Amino acid sequence: MTFDYAPAPESRTVVDIAPHYGLFIDGEFVDPIDGASFKTINPATEEVLADISEGGAADIDRAVRAARTAYKTTWSRMPGAERAKYLYRIARIIQERSRELAVLETLDNGKPIRESRDVDLPLTAAHFFYHAGWADKLQYAGLGPDPRPYGVAGQIIPWNFPLLMLAWKIAPALATGNTVVLKPAETTPLTALAFADICQQAELPPGVVNIVTGAGQTGRLLVEHPDVDKIAFTGSTEVGKAIQRAIAGTRKALTLELGGKAANIVFDDAPIDEAVEGIVNGIFFNQGHVCCAGSRLLIQESIRDEVLDRLKQRLSTLRLGDPLDKNTDIGAINSAEQFARIDEIVRSGDAEGAERWSAPCAIPERGWWYPPTIFTGVTQAHRIAREEIFGPVLSVLTFRTPDEAIEKANNTPYGLSAGVWTEKGSRILWMASRLRAGTVWANTFNKFDPASPFGGYKESGFGREGGRQGLAAYLKAEVV
Ligand code: NAP
Ligand code: MG
Repeated sequence: MTFDYAPAPESRTVVDIAPHYGLFIDGEFVDPIDGASFKTINPATEEVLADISEGGAADIDRAVRAARTAYKTTWSRMPGAERAKYLYRIARIIQERSRELAVLETLDNGKPIRESRDVDLPLTAAHFFYHAGWADKLQYAGLGPDPRPYGVAGQIIPWNFPLLMLAWKIAPALATGNTVVLKPAETTPLTALAFADICQQAELPPGVVNIVTGAGQTGRLLVEHPDVDKIAFTGSTEVGKAIQRAIAGTRKALTLELGGKAANIVFDDAPIDEAVEGIVNGIFFNQGHVCCAGSRLLIQESIRDEVLDRLKQRLSTLRLGDPLDKNTDIGAINSAEQFARIDEIVRSGDAEGAERWSAPCAIPERGWWYPPTIFTGVTQAHRIAREEIFGPVLSVLTFRTPDEAIEKANNTPYGLSAGVWTEKGSRILWMASRLRAGTVWANTFNKFDPASPFGGYKESGFGREGGRQGLAAYLKAEVV
């Protein structure tokens, strides 16, 4: 049973949201040249949070010029140890302002405060601390005696981990001596704008970081700008492919972090209670808006019923509701569009003959919400087994032998992550060497560390973020 509990909302008074935000170019907030703007809303209440500037071609050009000037005159000339000081300063300010940033992230994105406070913010700060440590040691990264930055990096990020994805992009770029123009996602610009304020607070030289808000079109303009040296993109496979086509034939370097359809594989010797927690964390963390989510559960046939019974019991205790409440497990779906995408593909699961079960929970009247849902009777041909849903929906399949588990796990165009649950260490190694996935978690799921490279195989993209390998994505191969 679930105990009743008193609501425990985090206070909104720790954030100060302006009615309108300009673009952050050359160290200052400026209005876009054509004055275009859009609204960002709180997806849990549909309340308008702020009016956000929409960058056009002239604004992107202004931002790229500022980044180029900063690259030439200050940032590329500064010793690594000096760049490190700025990164340490930014990391410390993020820690100091973490409560404010966590509330702001939850308001704009809809994710539970427990996650923004305990996952997004600590990892964001950790990413800056980690890369600060590298800035003066690049010659020891195994990339030659004097690896050089590309110059100006254009960076485009999605809405599922707005501030954390910003950190994954900006920290390594700055540590390696590049300057950046970053476009946040349309539905979640507020923490990127707070980060612009942090750049001012840290007295980062103007133009080193530029934040140009807008929708997909603003991103496209950044990709197409002729004076950008490198594009780093995180988002859908579809847009990733369009970007690759757009820059084909140019000298621009490219890294793509795209979608996933990870298998979470549970063997009959796994500790079942821990595996159930790992399954829940794998697909219901952040409402399943996670590229490496364990969205395909592969259970060894002999324990199928036991695992599913315990999983349904556990899901029945999850609390869906006010994301600012510290007791909330499942927050809001980020947008009406994303809700519609989830709903459409779930209906295809019904139509194709899979069996749907949703946790019993009261859905708030306003905002976008989806109950934790699992599908059984799923075949590998079903859309819900093949396509990324990017929502709190789990597709359950079974297997009998390790070979069959590998066969099914790898039967996907994606290759971002996988999970293995078993008592046997030798089986973990056997599985990990055969799974075509950038990350394989063993007896855990969704664990991240800035020292550990993250990235995909196949249609999940190329290039790594984090670790020594992530630095390589922002440094030119040595010409000897
Ligand atoms: P998306 O539509 O691809 O958007 C990602 C970013 O690209 C957003 O900032 C978007 O702007 C922008 N954009 C859209 N069209 C563009 C274009 N033609 N040129 C340049 N930029 C463009 O993806 P999404 O639906 O927001 O995010 C969910 C997807 O991201 C999922 O498929 C997920 O798997 C993937 N993802 C991958 C990772 C990873 O590390 N591999 C991490 C997180 C998410 P607007 O938002 O303003 O439209
Ligand atoms: Mg929003």
